[in-house]
Amino acid sequence: MLTKLNAPAAKFLQIHGDGVLMNGESLVVARPEPAADYVYLGDDEKHAPWFAYSRPSNEPLTALRPLMLSNMLSREELSIVAQARSLVHWHERHGFCANCGHATQMSDAGYRRHCPSCKTDHFPRTDPVVIMAVRHGDNILLGRQKAWAPGMYSCVAGFMEPGETLEQAVAREVFEETGVVVGKVTYVASQPWPFPSSLMIGCIAETDQAEIIVDEKELENARWFSRAEVGLMLEQKHPEKLTASMPHAIAHHVMSIALQ
Ligand SMILES: [Zn+2]
Repeated sequence: MLTKLNAPAAKFLQIHGDGVLMNGESLVVARPEPAADYVYLGDDEKHAPWFAYSRPSNEPLTALRPLMLSNMLSREELSIVAQARSLVHWHERHGFCANCGHATQMSDAGYRRHCPSCKTDHFPRTDPVVIMAVRHGDNILLGRQKAWAPGMYSCVAGFMEPGETLEQAVAREVFEETGVVVGKVTYVASQPWPFPSSLMIGCIAETDQAEIIVDEKELENARWFSRAEVGLMLEQKHPEKLTASMPHAIAHHVMSIALQ
């Protein structure tokens, strides 16, 4: 790690809370003064090592959530920023041992925190979230939350619970939010989502039930759309200006696969 830290090509991301330091549309990657506790993120395609550190900034930081869904950064930069945000957030919130309350120390280049008092090692966690398109013949079930932009619909999603299989989590979430009982569940793809440390697991579920009972605490609405309509929503060409998730979001990918 020391060799990599001292490499002239090393890049450093400053993260604090939900923001990252940028200059216009580019990440600021200069080595900071004074030095900080660095988390090693890995080497990029050009073999430059990347690090992240947590520090408040006098400059305004760029909000990470909209950045993740924008076209400002390359795919590689997006995944580096996602990893940085997730790890830095974990360090910011795990300064004290959950076992004995003593202050913990960063080790293993940021992938572990060690408690010098009770010797417990703490590791960053990943929280699995299932996100699914439900199919009934030619139709696809999508929902919308009140907080979303008007006219936007997307896949139903929710955190997996301890002891659940993927299939059980998909069936439970779809039933809880829409009252629909699903049968076969197929895994499509996954995407790390660093708010704070989720792994979004995209699935397609099949059902023969058309009736929907929306859980209004979770969703503002849920309804069936024809495949043709979902296609238009993904391309932002729907005649009623309805939209679906943007291309960088896994929901977009799951819906595209569900159309096939
Ligand atoms: Zn301890």
